[in-house]
Amino acid sequence: MAEHNLDAHLFINGRWEEGNTGPQPNIDPATGAAVGVVTLADADQVQAALAAASRAFPVWSALTGQARGAILKKASLLLAERIEEVAHGLLLESGKTRADAVGELRRTIETLAWNGEEAGRISGKVHQGVVPGSTRLSLPTPLGVVVAITPWNFPAVLVGRKLGAALAAGCTVVLKASEFTPYSARAIVQTLADAGLPEGVVNLVFGDPAAVSRQLLASPEVKAVSFTGSTQVGKQLAALAAPNLIRPIFELGGHAPVIVWSDADVEKVVQLTAPAKFGSAGQSCVAPTRYLAHPAVHDALVKALVAKARTYTLGHGRDEGTTLGSVAHGGRVAAFLQLVEDAVAKGAVLETGGKRVDRPGFFVEPTVLSAVSRDADILVEEPFGPVATVQSVESVDEAVALANATPYSFAAYVFTDSLRVRDELVRRLNASNIGINQTAPSLPDVALGGLGNSGYGYEGGTEGVLAYMQLRLVSQSAL
Ligand code: NAD
Repeated sequence: MAEHNLDAHLFINGRWEEGNTGPQPNIDPATGAAVGVVTLADADQVQAALAAASRAFPVWSALTGQARGAILKKASLLLAERIEEVAHGLLLESGKTRADAVGELRRTIETLAWNGEEAGRISGKVHQGVVPGSTRLSLPTPLGVVVAITPWNFPAVLVGRKLGAALAAGCTVVLKASEFTPYSARAIVQTLADAGLPEGVVNLVFGDPAAVSRQLLASPEVKAVSFTGSTQVGKQLAALAAPNLIRPIFELGGHAPVIVWSDADVEKVVQLTAPAKFGSAGQSCVAPTRYLAHPAVHDALVKALVAKARTYTLGHGRDEGTTLGSVAHGGRVAAFLQLVEDAVAKGAVLETGGKRVDRPGFFVEPTVLSAVSRDADILVEEPFGPVATVQSVESVDEAVALANATPYSFAAYVFTDSLRVRDELVRRLNASNIGINQTAPSLPDVALGGLGNSGYGYEGGTEGVLAYMQLRLVSQSAL
């Protein structure tokens, strides 16, 4: 495929324009070379994006849900037509494999389409009134201007999830997408524009993330902030949102345990969890990381994980045969190496991997650590890389204690056919997305959200659209 232009600029009031600061290079993490530039907004441009979203709100929110949904569904079809081209750009700027890039875009297409349908289904409730003949209506109404801030690890689907739900609800948006993956955001916004989105309804900015979010969240026009990213940044944004009581919808970090009980078929466990562990080089908030194995299956599980880790072919996503891509940037390599080093210094056995790969770009080896001591940083800090840890657990109590020993509450996985063990784990695990004998995909039709350091609010499903709406109570009777 011919190389295409990955340059990304700002989209304000229906027009692309260069940012007044920057440009900064868009780096292909699988080579370390620039594949484009991203230009950054200055404060006036951020203000213009906010003003455009404010002006567009009365127009967009006055359309019927069906009319808003028709644009989302058309954008979904356009993205499907462009999938090969967009996947190529996505893999170039993210280091993903072609399969991961295409898979993510398929999910983005589904997400836009599902929210397009949901826009036409938004409905309220009618309750009986307190006097005869009177009624009380519970009416969902759009909040207003939404700030959406997205990370680099799923640069298309997370943009699609936020824009799909907010636009279905009737809100307008200022999107600050990751400067590491600006092309993917550009491509999704372009499909919406080509599908007929009125000017100002979605505005895309890049910039200095801290300065841009400070400015956006100081605006009284902004009614909600939808953020996916790290817990650390989420806490900073929560503090910025508080003075104006801006509604937060936060999807933050995770550190998923995988409890493998004595009756589990370990080959199957590895076959089922490996795509979520090593896909996108492990940089996923639901990646299975902390394997907690019953002693009866512990050694076999380590062996099976090691065997699987060694099957991956590292390389550039555009090369045929690549099954594991790079991590997103140099910072991820350093964090990965530090966590592995700390674990080994505290007694862990490095079963395979653990090193940076000697080639251009940012590649680390698929890694398995066993006998990880409970004070190792990797058991608490989100590793966000292709690394699995294995610990032995003798009892359900011990499994629960170790699984819950992080401040996160997001994904967890359980492998057993024992109903007793399964029911007890589901009841006691501090997790809001539990996969039993399978992983737990985030599909557009069902609500998903974390607790504690994993966030608050929901994305997906009817609840994910209602997150951008206020239920108004109208009590009415005849005079
Ligand atoms: P990040 O928090 O560094 O960045 C996310 C976004 O916030 C980016 O747009 C970035 O530019 C911006 N940002 C960075 N610093 C900021 C600051 N000081 N103030 C305001 N904005 C700032 O996260 P990341 O490294 O891009 O993404 C990885 C994180 O995202 C992981 O923690 C992962 O678990 C989380 N994540 C969560 C989910 C979920 O659904 N819960 C999904 C995907 C990723």
